Amino acid sequence: MYGYTGKVLHVDLSKGESSVEEVDEAYCRKYIGGNGLGTRLLYDHAPAGVDPLSPENPLIFAVGPLAGTTAPTSGKYIVHTKSPLTGFLGEAVSSGYWGQALKQAGYDAIVIKGKSEKPVYLFIDDRKIQIRDAKHLWGTDALEVLDLIRDEIGDDNVSSASIGPGGENLVRYANITNDRHRQAGRTGVGCVMGSKNLKAVAVRGTGSVKVADMEGTLEHCKELYDLCQGPLTGAYRSLGTQVSVMIHQNQAALPTRNWQESVFEFAEKIGGEYIHPRWVVKTIACAGCPIGCDHVSLVQEDPEGEVLASVEFESIYALGSNCGIGHFPDVNKAVDLCDRMGIDTISAGVTLGWAMESYEKGLLTKEDTDGLDLKFGNSEALLEAIEMIAYQRGKLGKLLAMGTKAAAEQLGGDSWKWAMHNKGLEYPGYDLRGLKMSCLGFNTSNRGGCHLRNSAYDWDLKGKVDRFTASEEYGALVMARDDHYSITDSLILCKFSRGVLDTYEKFAKIYNLVTGFDVTAEELRQAGERIWNLEKAFNVREGWTVKDDYPAYRIMNDPITAGVAAGHLVTEEEFKMMHKAYFRERGWAENGVPTKNKLRELGLHYIADEIGVEDE
Ligand code: SF4
Repeated sequence: MYGYTGKVLHVDLSKGESSVEEVDEAYCRKYIGGNGLGTRLLYDHAPAGVDPLSPENPLIFAVGPLAGTTAPTSGKYIVHTKSPLTGFLGEAVSSGYWGQALKQAGYDAIVIKGKSEKPVYLFIDDRKIQIRDAKHLWGTDALEVLDLIRDEIGDDNVSSASIGPGGENLVRYANITNDRHRQAGRTGVGCVMGSKNLKAVAVRGTGSVKVADMEGTLEHCKELYDLCQGPLTGAYRSLGTQVSVMIHQNQAALPTRNWQESVFEFAEKIGGEYIHPRWVVKTIACAGCPIGCDHVSLVQEDPEGEVLASVEFESIYALGSNCGIGHFPDVNKAVDLCDRMGIDTISAGVTLGWAMESYEKGLLTKEDTDGLDLKFGNSEALLEAIEMIAYQRGKLGKLLAMGTKAAAEQLGGDSWKWAMHNKGLEYPGYDLRGLKMSCLGFNTSNRGGCHLRNSAYDWDLKGKVDRFTASEEYGALVMARDDHYSITDSLILCKFSRGVLDTYEKFAKIYNLVTGFDVTAEELRQAGERIWNLEKAFNVREGWTVKDDYPAYRIMNDPITAGVAAGHLVTEEEFKMMHKAYFRERGWAENGVPTKNKLRELGLHYIADEIGVEDE
């Protein structure tokens, strides 16, 4: 095959064994790669109802058919597992060089099961697989371990994906870090890795990827590279995602102090326009990326030494405005600390915002916080609390390591009313009360509260729809965006190339040049729909019900207090109306479960028999 290696590596850490499974062209064409391949492997290898932290829960890494080729922004990988944070689909994408290395080592995916008795790391040295002792690496932070493994192997071309103390200590939102500044951040994939006593997966790939039409691919990629370096992606190159701080502020969509407000009085001081000339020292690009959106900041004025961090919008929101922190060096330090500890900045910041509100309302006391004055805006307390979480230290560390949903359930009282999550996944920085299409899109996301499973926010923020009016039309619009992003995440392409690679026709052109297939745009659209239904089927099997999609209480009950969106919220009736329209468009039953007919139409016959409901 071209593009694909046709090989899935299986590793059993309990037995210390590995084997290789061959997959054929029909299978690849049906599930595309990346997200589609990973979801199918998860459905097949996770026993129904599996405990996320048990050895039986698989941890799956997958790359796309374009990885390792000249297709721009294609060097990504995706991780799948059953999430210990949500109990549903766990999934996180990362960039950098690791994905390309895995493809060059000869694999489309790795399925890791079991649990090692002692800490280990996996070394994939092309086709040679070693499970190596990692006792000496256990306890190292998520950044330093990357260098330690590279030094130990003695090759600068080795790329590792690793966990930090957060993963080792089973923080429910621990992430996986690779190539220093890149993370598979969401849904706790690093927690599952820690539960297997697996510190890292190091890869040395020296092979090349076979391409069906080399000349055509090179010629087409040259055009795409030129477009990627033009105005369509200019914002990512100039200020990166930090530009979004002031965009959201001006739309009253920047969640502040745990979503109690939606404009932040210090927004300018943490926005890209302010940060860039003062602290940004370089930009970094992932493998094969002509955009280079990663803007790295160096803060030298810290009394404890200079702090270098890669800070993007979501981290600024979560650890900045959402925690009431308006001094960029403090945000930079909190991001660096989360990265070193190997915990997701969004989930950490939102969980801490919830804790700060609970503290200010008297539900959490100094006795609960081990003496920390956990008020909004207290950056010293924020930093201390991040470490407590990563090591599950004290009552506070243990509570917040569970994530917002479980922490609110444990604390009790009314604290669930300000727990800002969907399905247990903490929301990113878009105030959904004034972004009604996004409210549907973020909450119907199969991995929980998420902006990356469809581009609904683009429609709201750019005025393509009336963001203050709920509409049945959003059902079809969100579905179309879901399926489109399912393909983006399966090929896998960076979402920041969306101005360039933005239609199924364009996807099909590069996919066919690389693989030699003859897929049509419509086939790819249907594959996107198949993948989305497969994800949903996994969730249904794990107990999803219609209420799991409902937005957080605050979104439906506490209106925005100030700014151009003041007074807006999404009522329960509005959400239910949009939700029903979404199910109808998808061809699902009224209770949101895919029907047998829909699943069969998508070629998912075995799943139709397992979870599908009869048509109404
Ligand atoms: S746009 Fe940014 S995240 Fe995307 S591939 Fe390029 S550098 Fe990586």
